[in-house]
Amino acid sequence: MEKRPFNELGLSAEVLKAVDKLGFEEASPIQTAVIPALLEGRDVVGQSATGSGKTAAFAIPAIERVDPKLKRVQVLILCPTRELAVQVAEEVNKLAAFKRGVMEVPIYGGQPYDRQIRALQAGAQIVIGTPGRVMDHMERGTMRLDELKMVILDECDRMLDMGFRDDIETVMAGTPPGRQSLFFSATMPPAIRGLIKRYTNNPVEVKIQASAQNTPQVEQIYFEVQRRAKVEALTRLIDRYDFRHGIVFCSTKIMVDELDELLHARGYATDRLHGDISQTQRNRVTEKFKRKGFEFLIATDVAARGLDVDDLEVVFNFDLPNDAEDYTHRIGRTGRAGKSGRAFTFVSNREIYKLQSMIRYGKLDIQRGRIPSIDEIEEVKENKFFEKLRTTLEAGEYTRHERTIDRLLEQGHASTEIASALIHLMQGGMAEALPPGSPPVAPSRAESYGQQENYETPDRAPAHDRHEKPAYDRPGRTGREQGYVTLFFNVGRKQAITPSDLVGKIAGVTRHPGGIVGAIDLKQRHSLVDVAEAQADDVLQKMAGVRLKGVTLQPVPAAQAG
Ligand code: ADP
Ligand code: MG
Repeated sequence: MEKRPFNELGLSAEVLKAVDKLGFEEASPIQTAVIPALLEGRDVVGQSATGSGKTAAFAIPAIERVDPKLKRVQVLILCPTRELAVQVAEEVNKLAAFKRGVMEVPIYGGQPYDRQIRALQAGAQIVIGTPGRVMDHMERGTMRLDELKMVILDECDRMLDMGFRDDIETVMAGTPPGRQSLFFSATMPPAIRGLIKRYTNNPVEVKIQASAQNTPQVEQIYFEVQRRAKVEALTRLIDRYDFRHGIVFCSTKIMVDELDELLHARGYATDRLHGDISQTQRNRVTEKFKRKGFEFLIATDVAARGLDVDDLEVVFNFDLPNDAEDYTHRIGRTGRAGKSGRAFTFVSNREIYKLQSMIRYGKLDIQRGRIPSIDEIEEVKENKFFEKLRTTLEAGEYTRHERTIDRLLEQGHASTEIASALIHLMQGGMAEALPPGSPPVAPSRAESYGQQENYETPDRAPAHDRHEKPAYDRPGRTGREQGYVTLFFNVGRKQAITPSDLVGKIAGVTRHPGGIVGAIDLKQRHSLVDVAEAQADDVLQKMAGVRLKGVTLQPVPAAQAG
């Protein structure tokens, strides 16, 4: 399917500028196909894989069609979940950044009505909402749709799955007859066909086939693993590929809880999402995950529905999904926007038959793989260590220790022996060197070399205990906690660091548990880090001169940083 530059699609200068600012180089196939038809006023049915850019495909023409002078609702976008409504609203906001007088508002359950009503009264023209709440506003008369030009159903398949069919019909019945109707979905089950028939007029139908060129590049592999060996297999794969950001899907809430605990205990930074977790908590976890505040999200399908996270390195199917469609939905979260991703699926015992039929009927391309052995993982680590050592030597970026070395040489040790002994100490000696009360470390992590001083952390530091109030719980609110002092660190977003990088480095270098670190506020060129008062001096002293992401750290108390 073809792609075209945005400036060939008949867009305004304001929108082109916004698209450019977002860094989109060219329109994706669905965008190329759909935008011109929508600008002409046609109804559209758009089907393409998750991650193919459907949001901008409808949001761009929606913004173009709004009359900024008319302060009435002109576009209504229905989304299945509150998370999705917020995300779509954010994208609309960015795309409309240079359009004066165009306003959007997300409308969803759980938020007070008066806030939404105020935004509507202020003249928001684009409403992005969940069906239930939109219907409420229509019934209460707090949202009038008589000037509506466009109604958009995003993730239509999911909305039907979630039982919104009646609500959708009620909303559609309340829209004026002349409006444009848009249906977007990753799949087109028959139920959607019915809706399309009823609510569209001679629609342009666009279906972008998932093909190697336009779908995200996802390497899909399955592993035959005994049930009880799954956790081990999971951690080996994580270590082998050095993954830092991914989702692990389980089939039950209980499994989610259990796996979260197990991974956490092995030193991985994890959190979880499932149906028993309150909405507030879910939002918190989702936001934190998006900020890369932890590494792996353990989730059920239901909880992860509509979760839009970019840049996932990997999706694990710890438990097999129900069918090919769920599989496609799950793995659509990796390999987005032209980046490559991986999807690893575990099958135990007889599940292999189920997977084979999914592969056959869903036309999936999943290859069989082998869980890496301990030796292979060691080799990966060794190679990485070798590279680091070589770079450090070549760059000459290390403190010299000639006196110690001279003394050893004088005692008759060869330089190769001295070097070997040092490497041995760095690798093996580490675990014992951890003081009592340190956070739990997985054997595989403890053996890593990453926590050495003067050595830019390739491996992660232990995740600290969630019950101690995780560090990245309260970003942007440093300096509030009693017993903590705020330290100024001369690295920030510019170096692409994450809170886990900082906590990891501090825990690794100082040997204090990660729990001594409180809130972290990442700024562009610096970071404010709360550290337990009792350890603050030690942290300042030990962290000075340590390198992180190419920067030599020079921490000072924030009070002195001015
Ligand atoms: P879908 O709704 O089809 O699942 P999204 O609209 O959420 O996909 O888009 C997935 C990601 O791709 C988003 O991060 C989005 O910003 C990005 N994206 C969308 N269009 C483009 C484009 N033309 N070029 C590059 N990235 C894009
Ligand atoms: Mg979408």
